[in-house]
Amino acid sequence: MKNCDQFREMYEAYALGALDPAERATLEAHLATGCQDCAKSIEEARWLVSQLAYMAPEAAPSDMLKGRLMQTVRAEAQTAKRSTPSRSAIPFWIWAGVAALLLFSVYSAWNAQRLQREIHAVNQRAAGILQERRELDAQLQLAKRAAMIVTDPASVRIVLASQDHKSPGLEAKWHSQLGIVLTGQGIPVPSGNRVLQLWLIPKAPEGKPIPSLTLRPDVDGKFVLLVSNPPELMAATKALAITEEPEGGSAQPTTTPRWVGGVS
Ligand SMILES: [Zn+2]
Repeated sequence: MKNCDQFREMYEAYALGALDPAERATLEAHLATGCQDCAKSIEEARWLVSQLAYMAPEAAPSDMLKGRLMQTVRAEAQTAKRSTPSRSAIPFWIWAGVAALLLFSVYSAWNAQRLQREIHAVNQRAAGILQERRELDAQLQLAKRAAMIVTDPASVRIVLASQDHKSPGLEAKWHSQLGIVLTGQGIPVPSGNRVLQLWLIPKAPEGKPIPSLTLRPDVDGKFVLLVSNPPELMAATKALAITEEPEGGSAQPTTTPRWVGGVS
């Protein structure tokens, strides 16, 4: 024969250690009889309390948790209405206040986190758009520069002939102030991660090839390479050469040039 109803409103308070000694003794005596229902309820209440104490602010309070708290507050309210002074050592309004505070702080923490995440996401989107614009601007600037080099009559045209006569020739336009634009079409894509690298061959008799940028043609064998800051002056350069090199390029040519063109 069980009379668990009288304990129903005590579980949370018990788990919080907030029962007065007489109530606690009664409840513990009841538990000692092996009541599985109450034991289970107290286990749940303990879990609830531990959740309140350790709840990660990341998580939204579950409906179950809110429900339990509200249930407890309501139960306490009813108890208070019935005016049974021995019911609990903690007055209802404190208990309700604690519950409300817990809910509020859990919610605020969660909301603050969510707000922070949202602000972070908005900032990231804004930064992303700004970055895209900057990249687009930079690309536009480069494209403009390349267009100026290609169209300016002051640019020197350099034809780079294929040394093995297997590939189409390449063409470069070199503007003394704006740089070099190298273009190609129908160029076989180097195998694996290998790249084509541009070299400036100096006029100086002992001068070694000066490494410049690397490139990989697209699948159609097309490419446009802009060298904004050539590593040597046009006046001091005898020829342009292209070799195939490992990814990232080399400090000095590791293969024989596949294209060479004299700078006149
Ligand atoms: Zn029971």
